[in-house]
Amino acid sequence: MGSPFRQLPSVDRLLSEPPVREVIAQVGHETAVRLARLLLDEARAAIRRGEPPPELSYLVTALRDRLIQAARLSLQPVINATGVIIHTNLGRAPLSDAARHAVVSITGGYSNLEYDLATGRRGSRYQHAVQLLRDITGAEDALVVNNNAGAVFLALHALAAGREVLISRGQLVEIGGGFRIPDIMAASGAILREVGTTNRTHLRDYEGHLSEHTAMILRVHQSNFRMIGFTTQPSLEELARLAHAHNTLLMDDLGSGTLLDTRAFGLTYEPTVQDSLRAGADLVTFSGDKLLGGPQAGIIVGRADLIARLRSHPLARALRVDKMTLAALEATLSAYRRGTATLEIPIWRMIATPLEALEQRARRWQEQLTARHIPAEVVSSASAVGGGALPGETLPTWALALTAPRVHRLSARLRDGTPPVVARIEDERLLLDPRTVLPEQDDVLLTRVRTAWEAHLAELD
Ligand SMILES: *Cc1c(COP(=O)(O)O)cnc(C)c1O
Repeated sequence: MGSPFRQLPSVDRLLSEPPVREVIAQVGHETAVRLARLLLDEARAAIRRGEPPPELSYLVTALRDRLIQAARLSLQPVINATGVIIHTNLGRAPLSDAARHAVVSITGGYSNLEYDLATGRRGSRYQHAVQLLRDITGAEDALVVNNNAGAVFLALHALAAGREVLISRGQLVEIGGGFRIPDIMAASGAILREVGTTNRTHLRDYEGHLSEHTAMILRVHQSNFRMIGFTTQPSLEELARLAHAHNTLLMDDLGSGTLLDTRAFGLTYEPTVQDSLRAGADLVTFSGDKLLGGPQAGIIVGRADLIARLRSHPLARALRVDKMTLAALEATLSAYRRGTATLEIPIWRMIATPLEALEQRARRWQEQLTARHIPAEVVSSASAVGGGALPGETLPTWALALTAPRVHRLSARLRDGTPPVVARIEDERLLLDPRTVLPEQDDVLLTRVRTAWEAHLAELD
């Protein structure tokens, strides 16, 4: 027999085993050699601890798994079975087919991103999407930047640095991911003037703080929480009248920025971009990937003279959007202009899915799983809009419920696979909500559930 160390294969031998050899190209030779050495080092360490040398077949399988694992890109598609439609941690809004096709066609080659085809001269990337935003919202002009946090920051910095911005104490909010209005304000160089109280702010509270130092009144939509009880805030119309009477600006940070009336879908009213402009806001800022259902972007619409100042500010260059974003955004917006947003844009399709359709889909899943002896029930539950929009508000749904011991372990198994499946746990049951599972994902979802379930049972035995 000789030394147990001598029974270990060489790196070259391991790499030449067919199951390993056929996956080497996925990571490249150097990485494969490094991972093979690492595995053999671990085997030697185990032998030194007194363990028997591993079989060749074990080493081959382990190395193959590690190579496949290493080849996986960090950013991967995930099946969202949580029922949270705009899931911030799962990439917010999925794009429409038209938006995805636009990204593919624009990024596969060259485009007129900054080229004026009529004159053959340099053009501006800022011209794209502007006409669509004007047509849809009625705004004079528009500017698209990297995200809404950037949009708010740019507007505050360019229009209010060194001057005062009046904001109600009830609107000094934290949006999540570290976006806090007082901090953004401080970083922008604008001076925060808090007015009113947390629950009640009157028009006269703003009036009392208006002076020649005031650059703007800022209203921030309370995106991700609700205040109830003894509360009041002036309307946007009243704020606009007050601001304009004192020769100052009104900016409305809407956040989710829906272009459609949420009440048509059985949800409470969420202010639309059009309503804010009609009420007299000089600038309105909102995200591209919340209720708009497009790519990550920050959109500023409003008065042409103000937008022109923002566009020419050096900070706009630091916040500029990429062609992929502009391609996806234009395609998304054009569905709104055509009036087909609820048919084409995934988040609106999810919001608008009838309850019966959800139940039918959950029942189909149930049939397919029970045919494989996996006990599953269809239960009534609730989906959420998410994304810091319509807090606490849910849509009724039907979900598939799996009951198992150690349900968190089952959930972890679902996340650990390709594609990962993210489910919801409620009352110690694992829930899969059909509302946020894309129609073409049914088969792969059920396959993942089956393999995870079988592995889970095997482990419990
Ligand atoms: C979400 C949100 C933001 C931040 O927008 P991002 O696009 O995530 O940068 C800012 N303000 C409000 C009111 C929001 O809801």
